Amino acid sequence: MDLPDFAIEARGLCKTYAATKTTPEMHALKGLDLAIPRGSIFGLLGPNGAGKSTFINILAGLCRKTSGTVEIWGRDIDRRPRDARAAIGVVPQEIAADPFFTPREALDVQAGMYGVPAHERRTDELLAAVGLADKGNAYVRQLSGGMKRRLMVAKAMVHNPPVLILDEPTAGVDVELRRQLWRYVLELNGKGVTIVLTTHYLEEAQELCDQIAIVNHGAVVACEPTSTILQRIDTRSVVVTPEEPLLVAPVLPGFETRARAEGAFAVTYRTGQSSVEQVLAAVRAAGLHIRDIATEDPDLEDVFLALTYAPPAPAAA
Ligand code: ADP
Repeated sequence: MDLPDFAIEARGLCKTYAATKTTPEMHALKGLDLAIPRGSIFGLLGPNGAGKSTFINILAGLCRKTSGTVEIWGRDIDRRPRDARAAIGVVPQEIAADPFFTPREALDVQAGMYGVPAHERRTDELLAAVGLADKGNAYVRQLSGGMKRRLMVAKAMVHNPPVLILDEPTAGVDVELRRQLWRYVLELNGKGVTIVLTTHYLEEAQELCDQIAIVNHGAVVACEPTSTILQRIDTRSVVVTPEEPLLVAPVLPGFETRARAEGAFAVTYRTGQSSVEQVLAAVRAAGLHIRDIATEDPDLEDVFLALTYAPPAPAAA
């Protein structure tokens, strides 16, 4: 069979969580379109509540979509749910360890769940790949947090899926372990596994991903090669403390502003398009006197703001 061009393809994907006694109806995905090329390391970024976990849960078969279509490895999740699920491994965000199993047993149980026959199991290879070769017979409860996380990556790979999904793989993980996980991800990708990664760390996306999609309010707002997106997110912020504290951030034409604590406000600008000088000129032009300024590097919030900010239309002449 021909290999699909896209490891995952979602079209018009919608998910509405029904209202409960305490929560209103929630439109978590609103027509999400996404095509993840086969062989890529694909980053899925977005602020909290953007809909990333909902999307991953739909792929993993843990959550039912409301409408739209999804194909995993060319297999429609409605028409061929088992085949579709067999094509992905998902490493969940939370560490779900089986305290009474050894890593070897945990991998065996997982392989059994996926119907992998004993002679096709690659337990030793997987343990070695995630650096747990010497821990195969230890109790999982004796492993460090980092080791448990690596075991989860191995569990997601027992059925040798062509697509691996990592949901925030390095949240709260120390730098050394993060690099080790990155190496393993790159190695898997080198063997042809398509990797989909959600992360809050711009650095992680920058380091690993060849393509990045930014999700906001349940839809994709940008989907581009990493280098292109990084050029677009060349944002900086200037935090201005005015002589007279402000309760609301001022409107500065051409700039995005946000109120900060103690009467200060942040002005976000694109380094390629304007400069601190221009920001300060705009602040003065708004009639404000500056007591203090500080510059800040962008964080993901700024990135999302910059990508979702629509400049006001020029006034008609
Ligand atoms: P992300 O992973 O990007 O942080 P989520 O997919 O977790 O976003 O959430 C998207 C939106 O759907 C949020 O507003 C969240 O509160 C809501 N949501 C997520 N899961 C549920 C659920 N089980 N029931 C109701 N609302 C939910």
